[in-house]
Order: sequence, then C-alpha cells, then structure tokens
Amino acid sequence: MTKPTFASVTERPCACDYLSHAADDPRSPIVFDPKLNEYNFEYPSLRSDEAGKAYLRIYHCPFCGGAAPESKRDQLFAVISPEEKRRLNQLLSGIKSVEDAFSVLGTPDHDDPHGLTAQRPEREGSAPTRQSYRSLTYSQLSDTADVILTDYRADGVHIALQGKYVGLSGAGAEPGSGAVGQRATRHDDGR
Ligand SMILES: [Zn+2]
Repeated sequence: MTKPTFASVTERPCACDYLSHAADDPRSPIVFDPKLNEYNFEYPSLRSDEAGKAYLRIYHCPFCGGAAPESKRDQLFAVISPEEKRRLNQLLSGIKSVEDAFSVLGTPDHDDPHGLTAQRPEREGSAPTRQSYRSLTYSQLSDTADVILTDYRADGVHIALQGKYVGLSGAGAEPGSGAVGQRATRHDDGR
C-alpha cells in the first residue's frame, strides 16, 4: 500500500467518514470534487482579480488524521512510456542553456519570461523572497510529453517531461487502475 498523495503522512485512510459527512453538509466549508476524487476547503477568493471561490486541497481528515482518498488528478495526464522517456532524454542530453535549446529544438511553443515562480519562506530574520524564472515549453517533440525547460540562470537549466493533458475522458473506464506514469511537474522544487 502506498500513500495516496505526495503530501500524505500516512497510508492509513480516514476511517471516520468526517470528510464525506462534512461534504454533504451545506453549512460546512468542505466540498467534494467527484471528478478528481478530492476534498477541498471552499472559501471566498481574497484576490481582487479573481472573482468567486478559492479552494484549499485537503490531504488529511481534520478529525481522525487519516489520509484523504487517492486523487484522480494524475489520470488527467498522458503516460510517458519508458521508451519515449529514453528517446526524449537522448534528444535533450546536450542542452545546457536556453541558447542550446533554441539551436537544437528550435523556437518553443511557449516562451514565458516568468514561467516558474519560486517562493522562499522567511528564514533567520530575512524576508521571504519570490523569484521568477523563464520557462520554455516544447509541445511538438512528443505525442505524450511536453518538454519544459526552466532557466535558473547561474544554476543552469532544468528540463522536465510533463505528460500531456488528456482530461478524464478515458480515465473513467479503469477506476483506480493506478496506471500512472512518473510525471515530472514544473512545480517540482523550491529553488
Ligand atoms: Zn477521519
């Protein structure tokens, strides 16, 4: 048995049904998203540019501390086969800079100067910092993967393969099959 989500601290699922009862109660801020099999706290958005509601994902039952159920979120993305990973890694192996990427792969499909924002919490009296990094996305290199290159400037470039978004259309056929590829995400570290 494995932990249901990356944030779970236990494999033991919630056994008290607090989450499902709370989600059924219209006075409770806890809501269930059946599509993704996820529980969230729902609250009015505090951002002025974002009308409506905001959601805070729940990973553990607030009452018994058990793990919330496994999310179907990973099924939204295509599985990248090991062969395809190998092929892409070979293609990408020589790329050490944004200039390399342009010369080897051509012009990216997206070139976002602030594609990734990393937040560093306040520490030992110094204020928290936010830094953004340029990210290039190549969508045409593979049928299953998007290639995302993040430029950490002095720290070099980081390349991630991200399964393409496929939605939940095919995923419903095999609930809980767990056939999920190892997907690198673009929010994978806090540098
Ligand atoms: Zn519980």
